[in-house]
Amino acid sequence: MLVVMQSHATPDEIRAICERIEALGFRAHSVEGTERYAVAVTGDLSGIETCGFEDLPGVQEIIRISKPYKLVSRESKPENTVVRFPNSNVTIGGQEFAIIAGPCSVENRSQTLNVAEKVAAAGATLFRGGAYKPRTSPYAFQGMGVEGLKILAEVRERFGMLIVTEAVDTEAMEAIEDYADMIQIGARNMQNFSLLKRAGRSPLPVLLKRGLSATLEELLMAAEYIMSEGNRNVVLCERGVRTFSDHSRNTLDLSVIPAAQKLSHLPILSDPSHGTGKRDRVTPLALASAAVGADGLMIEVHHDPDHALSDGAQSLYPDQFATLMSQLREILPVVHRTLSPEPARAATKPVAERS
Ligand code: PEP
Ligand code: MN
Repeated sequence: MLVVMQSHATPDEIRAICERIEALGFRAHSVEGTERYAVAVTGDLSGIETCGFEDLPGVQEIIRISKPYKLVSRESKPENTVVRFPNSNVTIGGQEFAIIAGPCSVENRSQTLNVAEKVAAAGATLFRGGAYKPRTSPYAFQGMGVEGLKILAEVRERFGMLIVTEAVDTEAMEAIEDYADMIQIGARNMQNFSLLKRAGRSPLPVLLKRGLSATLEELLMAAEYIMSEGNRNVVLCERGVRTFSDHSRNTLDLSVIPAAQKLSHLPILSDPSHGTGKRDRVTPLALASAAVGADGLMIEVHHDPDHALSDGAQSLYPDQFATLMSQLREILPVVHRTLSPEPARAATKPVAERS
């Protein structure tokens, strides 16, 4: 339920509404738009009509939200959410097309700094790299943990890129909050509800990847778990789903991008690396993602993919990534988007030798 306030409603009137909502055992969430200010009411509202909110001072109207995801829905917030980062010009969901690039895993310091230098020079403003890895096999490389997070923090320091890294469980969350700028929740954890709730209480924005067999509604409900705990900075990510196709690792479902944008105000990125699993498919699907209106891309890049500890087969070489960036600069104006014009910050110190 959405309690839409009159344009001249006072802070005291808004506070009174929120107190009434909480006193009834529901949660109140402010929804600030350019056109209107509203308070969303969440909780078990079944069988409840308007709770008499319409008679309270400052209230303009009560809107029932028909979708099961409430805070995520465009019904509660018609304008697009633009995720911003403290002390940075980088945005996700605005006019600028967001680029998150980097290796699948943080393998060691020199590998990470090597890739970081190249993707920064090509124009990436967000850097990815897993310090905690969700692997199909328990015997495969599981990530460097906190040591990996420290390397990522060094990347931010040297190159000015923001850090996106995955939390595979709630225990890792606090360390990630100390070092990173954005928490990734991976496909396998899309319905890990305790992890989603913990991410909802984090001060960092969350990148939520679609599960391997999740419907759009399930993805949006997972985002609702995060938002219902108070975190409004959620970015969705299509990363391919399992189908009968055997020509690629997953099937990148580009049709979900306009579908999600119709139902939700949250930004949605595309990850053609996991979406295809094969290097030669990544650039075509990345360009297609831009053309269908994705808000940005997540791309895996490695300087020596044949020796990568994870996902080498789908990682672009740095020069392929640079070519993709120049192709994006040509395509994006057609869909009224731009890449960050900011030149990448030059390395302050020479980057360590390749490993
Ligand atoms: C990743 O980004 O490296 C990753 C593990 O992604 P996903 O959760 O989409 O498989
Ligand atoms: Mn990967």
